[in-house]
Amino acid sequence: MMELPTKVLIGDGVLSELGEFIGDSAGRKRVVVASGSNVKSKVRDVVDATLGSKATWVEVAAADTVNVDRVMRASAGSGCIIGVGGGKSVDVGKLAAFRKHISFYSVPTSASHDGISSPFASLKGLDRPYSVMAKPPLGILADIDVIASAPRRLLSSGCGDLVSKLTAVKDWQLANKVTGEYYGSYAANLALMSANVVIEDSKRIGKFGKGSVRDLVEALISTGVAAGIAGSSRPCSGSEHLFSHYLDLLAPESGLHGEKCGIGTIMMAKLHGLDWRGVRTALVNVGAPVSAAEIGVSDEKVIESLVRASSIRPDRYTILSRSKMTKAGAAELAGSTGVV
Ligand SMILES: [Zn+2]
Repeated sequence: MMELPTKVLIGDGVLSELGEFIGDSAGRKRVVVASGSNVKSKVRDVVDATLGSKATWVEVAAADTVNVDRVMRASAGSGCIIGVGGGKSVDVGKLAAFRKHISFYSVPTSASHDGISSPFASLKGLDRPYSVMAKPPLGILADIDVIASAPRRLLSSGCGDLVSKLTAVKDWQLANKVTGEYYGSYAANLALMSANVVIEDSKRIGKFGKGSVRDLVEALISTGVAAGIAGSSRPCSGSEHLFSHYLDLLAPESGLHGEKCGIGTIMMAKLHGLDWRGVRTALVNVGAPVSAAEIGVSDEKVIESLVRASSIRPDRYTILSRSKMTKAGAAELAGSTGVV
């Protein structure tokens, strides 16, 4: 089953066209706008002006199931939910809309990870430390003026999530070979193309001019679409994501999702025999962290995450399933790639 967004609007100042963009998908019903407080204060005037009196704002404080329940309650009798913000509001709105069986629109105000277009939501309070399948947004509206003014760190983090597709696809190919799991080369190539936007042009992307922000946003949207085509997160999430998810458990406040995935990609690339130095250089060029110290995590936690990462999702065969990482092996890998 392929589920894909039906429309995408990218451009300068397009936030003021949000009302037109969602069209009559809410009919005469109200529209719930889920957003964090900072983003809300930044965009509320423009969003209210374009949606008219239809908008009901719900403040999202955290990416967890409590906030999903709040948005679901607020959306009783509403026609659709719009998630406006970085990661958390989009994830919360996406899962709330999926559970309420109403349409969801994604309006990213930063480009820090690929959840802006994917069918997955990553939330705390679920029964697992990785993302759950929901539905892709019906539409995505990305205002480059707004996204380009987001903190650089968020854009660099988005680059980390993009390069991670290199090892995610390698893990997918490996699983196909070893376990016979379905592998789709079209979805895989689409994800790789997005990773290469950063790998092959990292110096330009790292300047984060409007053109490169646009490329970054398009690449992130494409990886979410690749997951929709694959019908799973396989093209977007492999051993490097398992490492990142395990680090989430050990050090929940340290590093952004894309930052941890980027660091994981350097190490998993070495395990796969890929050009891990090229990955590291690209991350440095876009200002993303490449070591444990830069995200405030101890060497021990990195090593433990490498050893235990595959245990959080035993059904997902990756290079870590094959490598059976020992503590000494993990220390050698992290040390030789400069992560610790
Ligand atoms: Zn990711």
